Amino acid sequence: MGQPGQLVVFSGPSGVGKTTLLAEVFRRARQPLVMSVSATTRPPRAGERNGEHYFFLSPDEFAQRREQGDFLECSEVFGRGHWYGTLEKEVAPRLAAGKWVVLEIDVDGAEQVLRKYPDALTIFIEPESPEILERRLRGRGTETEEAVARRLEVARRELVRAGGYRFRVVNDQVDRAADEICRFLDRQAEVGKQGVSDA
Ligand code: 5GP
Repeated sequence: MGQPGQLVVFSGPSGVGKTTLLAEVFRRARQPLVMSVSATTRPPRAGERNGEHYFFLSPDEFAQRREQGDFLECSEVFGRGHWYGTLEKEVAPRLAAGKWVVLEIDVDGAEQVLRKYPDALTIFIEPESPEILERRLRGRGTETEEAVARRLEVARRELVRAGGYRFRVVNDQVDRAADEICRFLDRQAEVGKQGVSDA
């Protein structure tokens, strides 16, 4: 019989460098990580493909699937004005197959996940400092002043809730942060094995 899977939840403010860091974690991890594809009501950005980056749903479709109970968690991500959610079908079958299913979701979603999967490994990615986060958000050059201010406000609210996560890592250097996360995952894999052999 294979090892049971594990749910791994990443959150962190916009501009903290989650995408780059996650890509590095996927390259290095010794566990069978798979990314869950979320559903969203926001329109696709250039280059984003349905079913690969997100499942792009109309607000009506999203609401209907929510009523059907298809979501493991969902939230109207603050400051975005759109709904985002994790479909149960992205998660449960893969956990049953022994995969480590990775979610990249906001803090509200993470709290919902913990209610259903209290053993989920929650990881919060922090910026080196609020000033550096602000510089990164402005550095994108694509946002209006109002949008930057809104994202910073959201970031402040999220950082306050970082204490509820099992593991926190400062993304000052991708290399170092990825290494810390992988060592955390290794330790959890060890704990899991001991749990199985003790049973
Ligand atoms: P974006 O629109 O830039 O792709 O994503 C915005 C934010 O939505 C991300 O930072 C992420 O935290 C959040 N998000 C993406 N997918 C989900 C999801 O399935 N559930 C929840 N709760 N948040 C999500």
